[in-house]
Amino acid sequence: MKKIIIGIGILFFLSSCAGIGVDRSESLIVIDAGHGGHDGGAKSNGKLEKDLVLQISKKLYKELKSEGYRVYLTRNSDRFLKLGQRTRVADKKDAKVFISIHANAIASKKHFNHVEGVETYFLQKTRDAKSQAIAARENASVLQGTDKLSQNVIIDAVLNGPKIIQSHKLAIDVQNNIIKKLNDEYQGVKDGGVRPAPFWILVGASRPSILVEVGYITNDKERKRLFTSNYQEEIVEGIVEGINKYLDNRKRELGF
Ligand SMILES: [Zn+2]
Repeated sequence: MKKIIIGIGILFFLSSCAGIGVDRSESLIVIDAGHGGHDGGAKSNGKLEKDLVLQISKKLYKELKSEGYRVYLTRNSDRFLKLGQRTRVADKKDAKVFISIHANAIASKKHFNHVEGVETYFLQKTRDAKSQAIAARENASVLQGTDKLSQNVIIDAVLNGPKIIQSHKLAIDVQNNIIKKLNDEYQGVKDGGVRPAPFWILVGASRPSILVEVGYITNDKERKRLFTSNYQEEIVEGIVEGINKYLDNRKRELGF
């Protein structure tokens, strides 16, 4: 436990001191494809979240590579990863951005076709019941085997860290650009906004970190769109433009 807290402290120190240039070949982006293996994530109409997020993450990997970034994808096949396996590379290799890709779902069948849209999350405590419920669902698989005390200690250590401001900025740029791209080609895509939530995957990564819920697979219209290549490509382009914008602004802030 102690080791983990010291580790987090060092990582905060490093992340606030590290030269954050935006020479793309120097910038590592970590993409985390949610779930995998025995953990299918959300499920609807025979479709699984783990398959959708892998398709999108692979496209995102390719696109970021072609933009000149160094990119690491946490999984490129259908396998389960523990929390540390998802976040370790971002910490070790000084990633500029950590982005976890997920898809959303709701439990109440009668509301399936009324709830839709893209949402981007960054780590922060919240009283919002909806965000808490989504985080609880996504956290269930990554929290297996972690005791309650460790969970609370780590959350408190991280919640006021400097990365929150950067993560929030990154979330805004990515969310806005995804919505812009999708609305260029599709009608009525709902902007679910940027939201704070206690996602475990974002606690583990010390870099500016966000989690994108690309849409609700419990919504018929959205699920059909989400599993098409074209819709996935628009999401990917939006994420890439959001990352570019965030890093360009970061460069300006730091006066490079
Ligand atoms: Zn998920």
